[in-house]
Amino acid sequence: MFKEKTILVTGGCGFIGSNFIPYFMDKNPTYRVVNLDLLTYAADLFNLNEVNECDRYEFVHGSITDKKLVNSLFNKYNFDGVIHFAAESHVDNSIHSPEVFLDTNIKGTFNLLEACRNYGKSDIRFHHISTDEVYGSLDNDTDLFREDTPYNPNSPYSVSKAASDFLVRSYSHTYGMDVVITNCSNNYGPKQHREKLIPKTITNAISGKEIPVYGNGSNIRDWLYVDDHCEAIDLAFHLGKSGESYNVGSNNERTNNQIVNEICEILDRKVPKDQSYKEQIAYVEDRKGHDKRYGIDASKIKRQLDWRPKTDFTKGLESTIDWYLKQTEWHN
Ligand code: NAD
Repeated sequence: MFKEKTILVTGGCGFIGSNFIPYFMDKNPTYRVVNLDLLTYAADLFNLNEVNECDRYEFVHGSITDKKLVNSLFNKYNFDGVIHFAAESHVDNSIHSPEVFLDTNIKGTFNLLEACRNYGKSDIRFHHISTDEVYGSLDNDTDLFREDTPYNPNSPYSVSKAASDFLVRSYSHTYGMDVVITNCSNNYGPKQHREKLIPKTITNAISGKEIPVYGNGSNIRDWLYVDDHCEAIDLAFHLGKSGESYNVGSNNERTNNQIVNEICEILDRKVPKDQSYKEQIAYVEDRKGHDKRYGIDASKIKRQLDWRPKTDFTKGLESTIDWYLKQTEWHN
């Protein structure tokens, strides 16, 4: 007979969290999941329809910045672990309105760490989901971010994530807490908010709107299919070495131009119309301080935890497009 475990997932109604929870519950049938989410504009409860009725799943509506609520959850559930996704995640918003990024991403993370320290089990594992953006921007085509690359964040978003990473590390170093951090590259897949590049391109294309591309479209990101990321998180949560961080990426570097053009070509095939969707591409004023290139060296997680990304980029993009085409609410 397996012992049942309970974990707290924060931000589980967002893009990655809502892909992760069904994956994790399926993979780990002895776990109960409590999902704490504030349901900001980026969340969608519909994204968790697969598990909403499951008796091993519970949703709590609230904020990680609400210390009283967070502490009460630790007292009530006696969690065995925390997987912390909750964040303000859109770089553009952080440029216009940085304050909520500091509150949620730094203060919220601090509240969770304090709750672990004061009310958690002595061996509670805290898994912090972070980003490759903490390393800053690569200005050549060859270097890659490694776990020992110095942090050099450039946007209020990446600064808030870097600060939360450092806080998490400090709880390992100072209090001996069992923490692990994963720094992943740009995710793509179903359930992502339409503010982000790939969903925006798909939904604007189909709705006949302009497809905006920042600057000259030459910025490069390393794209990771969300299912591959979920597998990496599950592995790092269970097997990652305490106090360590792991970079997660799948060597799928693409310029923004390549991404939007590939999406248009797939749509031209799947939903043909008189003109190519490429006609809707419009180059717009660049993002302030736009990082040039991110590239991940994921050899540590491959070597130590035997993780391998499985999704071919074009196939992942096709599945993503198919998912958005099935959603109807934005079609006109
Ligand atoms: P998202 O914006 O889609 O979802 C964030 C979720 O957090 C939402 O459900 C929102 O309601 C919730 N949330 C926000 N503030 C909250 C608060 N105060 N209390 C409780 N819940 C709150 O984000 P995502 O893309 O799923 O990203 C998840 C995590 O992964 C974030 O920490 C992000 O920094 C990190 N990350 C994302 C990417 C990516 O490509 N999406 C890449 C690297 C790292």
